[in-house]
Amino acid sequence: MKQIHELPAILANQISAGEVVERPASVVKELVENALDAHSTEIDVTVADAGLKTIKVVDDGDGIDSSQVQTAFLRHATSKITEQRDLFRVRTLGFRGEALPSISSVSNVVLKTSTGSVGTEIEYKGGKLVSQKAAESRKGTTVIVNSLFYNTPARLKYLSSPNTELAKISDIVNRLALSHPEVAFSFISNGRELLRTSGRGDLLQVLGAIYGVKTVSRMQPIKSEKPDISISGYVSLPELTRASRNYISLILNGRYVRNFPLTKAVINGYGSKLMIGRFPIAVINIKLDPALIDVNVHPTKQEVRISEEPRIGDMVATAIRDMLADKQLIPDATREF
Ligand code: ADP
Ligand code: MG
Repeated sequence: MKQIHELPAILANQISAGEVVERPASVVKELVENALDAHSTEIDVTVADAGLKTIKVVDDGDGIDSSQVQTAFLRHATSKITEQRDLFRVRTLGFRGEALPSISSVSNVVLKTSTGSVGTEIEYKGGKLVSQKAAESRKGTTVIVNSLFYNTPARLKYLSSPNTELAKISDIVNRLALSHPEVAFSFISNGRELLRTSGRGDLLQVLGAIYGVKTVSRMQPIKSEKPDISISGYVSLPELTRASRNYISLILNGRYVRNFPLTKAVINGYGSKLMIGRFPIAVINIKLDPALIDVNVHPTKQEVRISEEPRIGDMVATAIRDMLADKQLIPDATREF
């Protein structure tokens, strides 16, 4: 008979990594989300060779105390939830405690961090601790991920072309920046700056940095408030469309999510004003009681369950419909004289 035994931590982490760290863009997402959870005001993302050579995320957030830094790399170790009921009031982007152990099990990670006093630098390779030492560091955290998937050749093979992987990283950085206009983001790939936002809390400025100022001049604000749900954002006028739904970003309590019914609601708001196969550019911010959202559905947390989905969908569609109706009353409102 075969013996049943618990898997060693490194192997268990590599199995988790299969879900959490699908591709370089997933690493960027997890590291930036950690930086956001740590109250950073500035986050700088740098990649080399579409993230396969290096991914570096520098933040000016809370930092990790040197006595805690090894714990941060343990599976299911988190500072963000403590007990079961916390799961129903999650306000942070992370809570599963899987990112650092997963990433470090499939790469070479150097993390430098400081809470303001003496800093610490720790290195892991293939899930194994290499070293930890005191280090000069300003307040905040820097994570450098080198040689991603060096020990999982099957994963490397499954990746798309470097251009496609870079586009996926760029897409996720854009959406994180759109979700947090109050944070100054920069994104540099092979020495080229692909995004810079001001961090002044102006969503329109972030949209301009991503889609271009000219495009954004044809977007309009929308708003809808109910006692328990608030919706705000910008959507394009019907003449400004794209050939895919990908330009519709939904942000739920600061978390970028994918949600088909709500994406459909955005499109429905336009009624018959969109041509077949054309979709608007939109950023919709939805704020509601965290108890109404179940984020514990998928390891990447990009899919969530929302208990008031139909009502939120109606609010979104109505807000867009009302804005477009207003525009029609003043046909030249978007033109400058
Ligand atoms: P989770 O985000 O789900 O808690 P992670 O594995 O991503 O799990 O991170 C583990 C812990 O390490 C976090 O709970 C947090 O306390 C700490 N941490 C990770 N990254 C940062 C960071 N950039 N700044 C401050 N603390 C961090
Ligand atoms: Mg995390």
